[in-house]
Amino acid sequence: MADRDWDAEIDAWTERFRHIPDPPPVFARAIRDGWTADDRAALAREAAEYSARHEGWLAQIGASGWDLVRLDTRGQECGACARYSGSPYSLRGETPGIPAPPPLPICPACRHTLNLLTPFFMQSAGLDAGDLVRDAVPYEPID
Ligand SMILES: [Zn+2]
Repeated sequence: MADRDWDAEIDAWTERFRHIPDPPPVFARAIRDGWTADDRAALAREAAEYSARHEGWLAQIGASGWDLVRLDTRGQECGACARYSGSPYSLRGETPGIPAPPPLPICPACRHTLNLLTPFFMQSAGLDAGDLVRDAVPYEPID
């Protein structure tokens, strides 16, 4: 994936979060008080690091041939990311009816993960393939 321009994304998300309930705390603060150069630089650096780690994880599970994952927000979702919480995604397009995952991080502040959606998890959660298709939330970039 091409490198994302985190400075540009932080600008764009600052505007978006003015109209989205429950912005991440760092954006709520920036909307209230304005960005400090330090906060902005830290957020851009952390988002780039997280994105690189996520790409590494995708390469690792991609190499293993795994297809089904689930977006895990661990209860830390913001108003923009919340709708994707718990959604199944297909990494390799091998599961009919299941969309490709969003790029992570979705917004620069959230640190969600794609966890393997294992048969064990599905069984213990009482999920079958039809439930996955029903629960799938295709990613739609804002704008
Ligand atoms: Zn978010």
